Amino acid sequence: MPATPIATTNPATGETVKTFTAASDAEVDAAIARAADRFVEYRRTSFAQRAQWMHAAADLLEAEADEVAALMTLEMGKTLASAKAEALKCVKGFRYYADHSAEFLADEVADASKVNASKAFARYQPLGVVLAVMPWNFPLWQAVRFAAPALMAGNVGLLKHASNVPQTALYLADLLARGGFPDACFQTLLISSSAVERVLRDPRVAAATLTGSEPAGRSVAAVAGDEVKHTVLELGGSDPFIVMPSADLEAAVRTAVTARVQNNGQSCIAAKRFIVHTDIYDDFVTQFVSQMSALRVGDPTDPDTDVGPLATESGRDEVAQQVDAAAAGGAVIRCGGKRLDRPGWFYPPTVITDISRDMPIFTEEVFGPVASVYRAADIDEAIGIANASPFGLGSNAWTRDEAEIRRCVDEIEAGQVFINGMTVSYPELPFGGIKRSGYGRELSAHGIREFCNLKTVWVA
Ligand code: NAP
Repeated sequence: MPATPIATTNPATGETVKTFTAASDAEVDAAIARAADRFVEYRRTSFAQRAQWMHAAADLLEAEADEVAALMTLEMGKTLASAKAEALKCVKGFRYYADHSAEFLADEVADASKVNASKAFARYQPLGVVLAVMPWNFPLWQAVRFAAPALMAGNVGLLKHASNVPQTALYLADLLARGGFPDACFQTLLISSSAVERVLRDPRVAAATLTGSEPAGRSVAAVAGDEVKHTVLELGGSDPFIVMPSADLEAAVRTAVTARVQNNGQSCIAAKRFIVHTDIYDDFVTQFVSQMSALRVGDPTDPDTDVGPLATESGRDEVAQQVDAAAAGGAVIRCGGKRLDRPGWFYPPTVITDISRDMPIFTEEVFGPVASVYRAADIDEAIGIANASPFGLGSNAWTRDEAEIRRCVDEIEAGQVFINGMTVSYPELPFGGIKRSGYGRELSAHGIREFCNLKTVWVA
């Protein structure tokens, strides 16, 4: 496949507004060399010093939130309101790691008397140059949730961002430099996905984290495995959203709509499969279809827009193809289901029912505002459908029955379960998946420790 051009193309119009030349191998090598050199000094800086730089970057970002929100909307089509919220979430993420990293990475003292030592403890130390391969859907937040913990731990970062968000990628490196981080602590490499392997095989690169699709994750993990380098993978998801009869149906439907169409339907932790108890199935579908159909699709810069365009033409075409295949296989399209006849890569909120297990859409992730609704006879069947997925990222369950809550918490195969709510990432909570959604954790204390060597120290 030809490499995706590195360019800013407005998904609302299809117009390419800025193109970039990919860095040459020599330029990439020079960047890796700068990063490796910088690490020697940077790892010795104190938490207090790093925190000061990170707070400065957070303050700058807070002041520039409108500007960077407009950039994200231009590059990948999210609504301005959600782009601004994303920028402010990054501010929070920076401050969280600035304030808590020293505590998260404090020495873990062991009982020396039990191990014949005068002193024994485990110390978290940085790994070195860490490569981050990131997706476009939350172009700032995805990169910040790598950058903040990695830098606070004393690592230096190389960012290979998605090819359609080059300006946001360059903005982040510039922001951190303006915050005070020394030269080459965090660099954006404008490279195509085919150039990732070379970077990862470089002996000066210690580890990698990738957020993106399953094929991309498999490819990076294979190279890292060959090189015996640590990886964190945050891949796709097809999150279940179970609704049982005791739930507050009105709140469940309202939340279901938001959980499916947030970020124009392009979130890894969007609820994608709605599994509804048969007693309330008809009511749920009626209300859900009514609210999904009422959403306003259009210009993402217009404050009245609920759902903007999909980020790329190929992404929009893939969603359309998945829905068409489901319809051809006998599924029922309750609303939407036809690409919009206008410039840009718009796809309407769509609800599909009567999906059978042999249809590809039963197991595929649909990365757009398309909801699949399933009927379940009881909690056993609901959890069974929830787990009949290759993915295991987030999950949601709506019920006021304590026994059902316990069962969902214990039995749903996922990295996270949200009861009577929707899956959201918080700096304070671990984030990640199981099964084909990946491994490792981001955010919280767990996220920063992923990029550390836990060194055992034993003193006679
Ligand atoms: P993608 O194609 O996998 O792209 C993600 C990143 O990986 C981009 O930087 C891309 O570069 C790069 N890449 C692609 N193929 C590669 C390869 N073979 N080797 C090395 N790098 C490669 O993902 P997408 O379709 O744009 O993004 C949506 C996917 O990301 C969905 O599956 C979604 O669920 C997942 N996602 C997961 C999380 C999470 O936290 N679990 C969060 C957000 C998104 P180019 O742009 O240059 O191709």
